[in-house]
Amino acid sequence: MLTAVAEAVQEPLTFVERDVPDPGPGEVLVKVTACGVCYTDLDVLQGHWPGARFPVVPGHEIIGVVAAVGTGVAFPPVGLTVGAQILGDSDRRCDYCVRGEQILCPHKRFTGIDFDGGYAGYAVLKADFVSPLPDGLDPVAAAPLMCAGLTAFNGLRQAGIAATSRVAVIGASGTLGTLAVRYAVAMGARVAAVGRSDRGEAAARELGAELFIATAGRDPGEALAAWDGGADVILNAAPSTSAAAAVYSGLAPDGTLVLCGYGPEPLSLPTGTLPLRRPHVMFNPSGSPHNARETLAFSAAHGIVPDYTPIGLRDVNATLDTMAKGHPGKRSIIVF
Ligand SMILES: [Zn+2]
Ligand SMILES: [Zn+2]
Repeated sequence: MLTAVAEAVQEPLTFVERDVPDPGPGEVLVKVTACGVCYTDLDVLQGHWPGARFPVVPGHEIIGVVAAVGTGVAFPPVGLTVGAQILGDSDRRCDYCVRGEQILCPHKRFTGIDFDGGYAGYAVLKADFVSPLPDGLDPVAAAPLMCAGLTAFNGLRQAGIAATSRVAVIGASGTLGTLAVRYAVAMGARVAAVGRSDRGEAAARELGAELFIATAGRDPGEALAAWDGGADVILNAAPSTSAAAAVYSGLAPDGTLVLCGYGPEPLSLPTGTLPLRRPHVMFNPSGSPHNARETLAFSAAHGIVPDYTPIGLRDVNATLDTMAKGHPGKRSIIVF
């Protein structure tokens, strides 16, 4: 099978032919249908992920069909279409795992980082960390739901979104931000989109945002606070910590700023009278298997999948180069 391998940091991926691997106990062999190219893949390749294993096959937005199962696997069966996410393994015995919060496990392992992922014709995955793809979701378009979608959906949920919430999404033009806007609208919330310039306004309104705040030349927190008292949830989808900090003062009392995106710079927040509003600040690193199932079910029920550009496996270096230059555009999905 054709396989893209990251041999070392800052090196282009190499393409090699490998034998199709066998699943071990508790594992499934998945014939990959599609794998999204995520910004985290780029982060790993640029050396921004401490402890990443090299060589490794990247890719953690995987949809594929179970081709074989290892010993002891009762589910999923051969032939079922499943998705795999960045959280790929955990110790299954700590308190977090026992309560279904494997994403918090101190011994969690990541797909395409700690073990080989989906930039290959087949992937071996832990059976209890893949999620069945619900009917009605296109198996290619659904690939980014396993990371960008899961992170956006779970971020809104973790931040306590309700049908009456006012939700602001920073970075609403990227895949994660676009999905966050669509999920929040579908959950019944009122949505504001926050972007650098007015260029994103028409697209954000088309997704269902009632307000667009361009940050250029104004205090976006002040503009957000003027929106009926501020946002109950601010979701940062931009890869910038300072973008989130700049909007923080637009939180309503008891509101939550959730950082799904962040940059290398520290998070520095103003104080003054803002602490008197009892603000909450949290990060959201993807989600656990049950969050992935909920994300897929909700996306299927509401017909939410991202726009994407299909590419071949050998196109992936060019795609990563474009992403590194800061030209985001639609998500690229490797189609096998
Ligand atoms: Zn654990
Ligand atoms: Zn990702």
